[in-house]
Amino acid sequence: MSEENGHKTINGKAEKCPYSKACGGCDLQGSRYKRQLSKKQKLLNELLGEFGEVRPVIGMSDPLHYRNKVHHAFKRDRSGNVLSGPYEKGSHWVINVDDCMIEDEACQCIIHTIRRLTKSCRIKIYNEDTDEGILRHVLIRRGFSTGEIMVVLVSGSRKVPDLKRFISQLVMIHPEITTVLLNINHGKSSMILGPDREKLLYGPGYIKDILCGKTFRISAKSFYQVNPVQTAVLYSTAISFAGLTGIETVFDAYCGIGTIGICASDHAGNVIGVELNPDAVRDANINAEENGIKNIKFYNDDAGRFMRRMAKEGQTADVVFMDPPRSGSTKEFMSAVIDMAPSRVVYVSCDPETLARDLKYFTAHSYRVKKIQPVDMFPFTRHVEVAVQLLRTNDAAFVK
Ligand code: SAH
Repeated sequence: MSEENGHKTINGKAEKCPYSKACGGCDLQGSRYKRQLSKKQKLLNELLGEFGEVRPVIGMSDPLHYRNKVHHAFKRDRSGNVLSGPYEKGSHWVINVDDCMIEDEACQCIIHTIRRLTKSCRIKIYNEDTDEGILRHVLIRRGFSTGEIMVVLVSGSRKVPDLKRFISQLVMIHPEITTVLLNINHGKSSMILGPDREKLLYGPGYIKDILCGKTFRISAKSFYQVNPVQTAVLYSTAISFAGLTGIETVFDAYCGIGTIGICASDHAGNVIGVELNPDAVRDANINAEENGIKNIKFYNDDAGRFMRRMAKEGQTADVVFMDPPRSGSTKEFMSAVIDMAPSRVVYVSCDPETLARDLKYFTAHSYRVKKIQPVDMFPFTRHVEVAVQLLRTNDAAFVK
């Protein structure tokens, strides 16, 4: 096997991941990377072409092992070996995956050690049917620039035996692990992490990463983009679409741990961020403080409700960044933005279908699409990010 043009090949033919059918995570397996990009481009042209020219998707020079967040469910086979991987598509059957093409290799190596240690330390694997046992999932996150690694052990039971020996061996073998947490999840849903706060087992409870020259602290439950190389490309595109000159009032809606707003803050007058997840807002506030940023404020609220209140209070905006989840935004949010009349809206989307729906709304209400830039954050899968610049039609003539 060799790597050619960013793709594992066997005798020049694109290799297909042996787990792809059962796993279902990568829809574009078996296609060379260039072909994957042209498939995405075609789909984007179909969905977004009516709003303007879709620029060529920015791809990766090395699209393998880009995912800095790795999650495995655990099981034991009949011979007592510990196995792990994703659930089979549409079920709770764990597929044993030893080598994934898109997962970070350092994280995968830790998963292999955890399998071995689970066996030697006699840690029981959780059984969903009987609700007995301990280890259910492992979530690993790696800070791309810092190399810091977080391991979250997810237990299916509240009664967890002493994990000291397990943890001390794990961090001795992998000194790159800087923090280990325990999360309890004995629910039946497919959520990886349970709702309660994690118990800290080792280190500070978070990792740090550097993005666009700023340092970010990331907790277990906070959203953080999974492809750090392409995130830098996406954010710099989005910030350039905002056309900031240092005096603008900027909103960063659906802000997560504050990444876009913090990266934009040096170029803006002031920034207001809003996010639903309280852990992410706590991270965002600490991130602002640790980067010495004084012109930013974060609120923990539903983005639609918050923007409606801002609009009612007569708050204006020059630029609104919005980066909603896959389900897209809401009429409540968009109508409030339209009332606040920013001259530019920068929409960062991870789902072109809901993006098209929301662009229809904006373009029917005084905005027009000026630029559409897709960035491939998820090679081998059908997913793609898109940054869109919308201009208020009254102002459109004056902005390049
Ligand atoms: N801009 C951030 C996060 C984008 S992901 C980044 O690039 O890292 C989308 C974020 O929207 C998540 O953090 C999620 O918690 C948040 N979110 C989901 N629904 C929301 C809502 N109704 N109001 C505010 N935030 C929401």
